Amino acid sequence: MKYEPIIGLEIHGELLTNSKMFCSCSADYGSAPEPNSNICPVCTGLPGAMPVVNKKATELAALVGLALNCSINKHNTFARKNYYYPDLPKGYQISQYELPIAEKGSLDVNDGNENQLNVRVRRVHIEEDTAKLAHEKNYALVDFNRAGVPLLEIVSEPDIRTVEAALDYATKVRAILRYLGVNSGDMEKGVLRFEANISVRPVGSDEFRTRTEIKNLNSFRALVRASQYEIERQIKLYEAGGTVVQETLGWDDVRGVTTSQRSKEEAHDYRYFPEPDLPPLQLSDAWIESIRIQLPELPEAKTSRFIADFSLTPSEARFLTSERTLANYFESVVANSKSPAKTIHSWIAGEFMRYLNDSSLSIDDVTLAPETLAKLIDMVTDKTIGASAGKTVLTELFKNGGDPAEIVKEKNLLQMTDVNAIQELVTKILNDNPKEVDEYNAGKETLFQWFMGQVARATKGKADPNVAKELMVKGLEERKK
Ligand code: ADP
Ligand code: MG
Ligand code: ZN
Repeated sequence: MKYEPIIGLEIHGELLTNSKMFCSCSADYGSAPEPNSNICPVCTGLPGAMPVVNKKATELAALVGLALNCSINKHNTFARKNYYYPDLPKGYQISQYELPIAEKGSLDVNDGNENQLNVRVRRVHIEEDTAKLAHEKNYALVDFNRAGVPLLEIVSEPDIRTVEAALDYATKVRAILRYLGVNSGDMEKGVLRFEANISVRPVGSDEFRTRTEIKNLNSFRALVRASQYEIERQIKLYEAGGTVVQETLGWDDVRGVTTSQRSKEEAHDYRYFPEPDLPPLQLSDAWIESIRIQLPELPEAKTSRFIADFSLTPSEARFLTSERTLANYFESVVANSKSPAKTIHSWIAGEFMRYLNDSSLSIDDVTLAPETLAKLIDMVTDKTIGASAGKTVLTELFKNGGDPAEIVKEKNLLQMTDVNAIQELVTKILNDNPKEVDEYNAGKETLFQWFMGQVARATKGKADPNVAKELMVKGLEERKK
């Protein structure tokens, strides 16, 4: 029997606010001088401490809701989600339950077979992060610096049908959060985490079978591997006549298997009830509009515009819009250059990215001004220098900065475009190597590259390759007996 997977994703992302969700402690726990230095009675759950809602966090949450095409609940409420764990000082987490800040959104994703799939976003709600535990041999240490940091949960409907679509959905949500500047997307730091809910069913059936939930997936790779593993595991279970039990799973990245954490019988009863210490959030239409106008152009819209305005292919445009800073950089180069946008894309996707990758830099680290890159690309386009000289100049610009024209002069990289001079050289090479000419003309066509290599060597790669190639073909043809 053929099975299809049903996937619903829950994404947890911290919000980039200055202070924590319900107190004025710094939310930047990564910069805290030492464990438990960023804490107060509220975020350590001391009796009688009163929470106050972080206004900035509600703005960022609404911004995300709007970016995911959700409707904003003008009246939304906080609730207590009760469970005991050492990283949760109050014994409950303040979350949103019945009335989240945003719900009923959607996001278009690619299913891996070039089909668009509309994934419904069930809800976006505000909650708080937990403390961090450090497990030692016979004991554990707890650091409350992260406790109470604003956390957003984005829950999809079970609309996803392929692992590729799940990956694209997660990738797009991360890109949107980064575009909005609400989350760094730094998955190694744990500021963004995925949970995959998975079930499988026979193709053609429309039932929803029992699902399992894989918690705390901290990378795209883990999301993909864990989902694939879990789909296979469930299919094998059904094929063997068994059934899937509802449970919470962990992912063991080293062994590449999902592991049971707790079953339905042990499932938490969170005993949700309205948070008595916080009034409901009442949002006005004017406030919501003031958030809506802050929405930047989002990746989807930018991609369409790049395809239309710059004659790029969808995949070229998607690459450039994957990061807002990269898209801005590209547009600044285009604005300062006479070269076609397509050429500028090739430089950025090629040499430019290669340099960044080789040096483990990100686009945010680039100090090379887009105007300077534009100058360099234009020198290649108007044949002042050749493409390989262009790469040399780019490396120099990255390393030591400077002006492209100056570097070309200093390193003597001006391209030889004088047809007579190139002709003279080609004639000399052909006259000096009669044996190779005969071999070539007798059918050893691979020798052509050798002849071009002689040109490159004699000119240090500065001869216009198209002119040289044309003259070489002609010269060899003339010497055919
Ligand atoms: P709750 O967390 O309140 O129990 P649900 O169980 O309805 O809510 O959904 C939690 C997540 O599981 C959602 O992302 C949803 O899309 C997904 N989900 C629900 N049912 C299934 C299913 N049968 N197969 C796969 N995913 C599912
Ligand atoms: Mg869940
Ligand atoms: Zn605090």
